[in-house]
Amino acid sequence: MSNDIWVLAEHQDGKVKKITFELLSAGIEFSKKTGQKVATLLLGSGLEEAVKSLTPFADEIYLLDDPSFTPYTSDAYLPSIASLGKEYQPSILIGGATSTGKDLFPRLAMHLQSGYAPDCTGLSIGEDGKWMARRPLFGGKIFAEMVFSEARPQMATVRNNTFLVNENPDRSAKVIPIASKTDPSALRKKVAGFEKAAGAKLDITEADIVVAGGRGIKAPENFKIMEDLADVLNASVGTTRATVDEGWRDLKDQIGKSGKNISAKLYMAFGISGAIHHVLGITTCKTVVAVDNDPNALIFNYADYGIVGDLFQIVPALTEELKKALSSV
Ligand SMILES: Cc1cc2nc3c(=O)[nH]c(=O)nc-3n(C[C@H](O)[C@H](O)[C@H](O)COP(=O)(O)OP(=O)(O)OC[C@H]3O[C@@H](n4cnc5c(N)ncnc54)[C@H](O)[C@@H]3O)c2cc1C
Repeated sequence: MSNDIWVLAEHQDGKVKKITFELLSAGIEFSKKTGQKVATLLLGSGLEEAVKSLTPFADEIYLLDDPSFTPYTSDAYLPSIASLGKEYQPSILIGGATSTGKDLFPRLAMHLQSGYAPDCTGLSIGEDGKWMARRPLFGGKIFAEMVFSEARPQMATVRNNTFLVNENPDRSAKVIPIASKTDPSALRKKVAGFEKAAGAKLDITEADIVVAGGRGIKAPENFKIMEDLADVLNASVGTTRATVDEGWRDLKDQIGKSGKNISAKLYMAFGISGAIHHVLGITTCKTVVAVDNDPNALIFNYADYGIVGDLFQIVPALTEELKKALSSV
């Protein structure tokens, strides 16, 4: 029994995703209080660069080097991680509230007969040493604080940007090779390939900054001004259901109840009225800026900073000013 803090590493094209560094950074902070080791599970093949980047962020890297793990399928991951979980019994196993995390963790929890807190926006350790997971319910109207029963591991998926990445991680992980428990002939799912969207930026759930345009943008070609602003800020472009329904933008960029929940450090809304279905998706953003020409637009109730004005004047002016300001940094 290891009693350690385990983080499932996510990677794409051999590079570890930021959410993994966020979770390992949190793990390091918790381990300073509890004395537990921080370990990460890395599954895939051709992961030399990933191992190198993870080394300062963990005490141990459990490396399952097998081509069946790339790209991710729950079919391939499940038997191997479930077997590791049973053998080592970590205290807690966390992953990103990403499409991988949301697909894998409920299945793992079932296999390990353990508790699972999905889509968390906070983790802490109580006086009794038990982990507490905080998660928004009813679209962020209330937050539930959940503790786990005696079953181990305690399992949670955590949203992007819940924790900051430690800029000076001080660990030096030992790599522990683990034999895969996955039988390639038993795999029922096969990923045929990936298609990258044209000009793809980070997914809106992963981006630190999201700039979003709503129906106030008036025409699909006008989103060019949002793309220009996003380029300057290294942001991703989100939107509302109104523009998706119009066929102006892709569903993958929709924020809200029937779209995605985002936890960006900075969310900027342009020409978005602030309907409840939309704002349900931004309740855990750190700072919200809204621009709308209607002073009574509901979005101002949720914004930290608001500008009443015409977005077609404000967005290009903002882009120019930010370009100047950021070029001198
Ligand atoms: C079951 C259900 C689920 C839904 N799920 C979602 C969801 O996931 N996400 C979502 O977004 N919506 C969702 N909706 C729809 C939601 O209720 C709203 O209809 C939608 O969010 C409105 O989008 P909008 O703000 O872009 O458009 P509008 O409400 O039309 O707002 C446009 C805004 O632009 C402003 N504007 C216009 N011109 C300018 C200008 N020149 N400069 C500045 N401002 C300007 C206007 O003042 C207005 O405030 C859902 C609805 C239902 C019923």
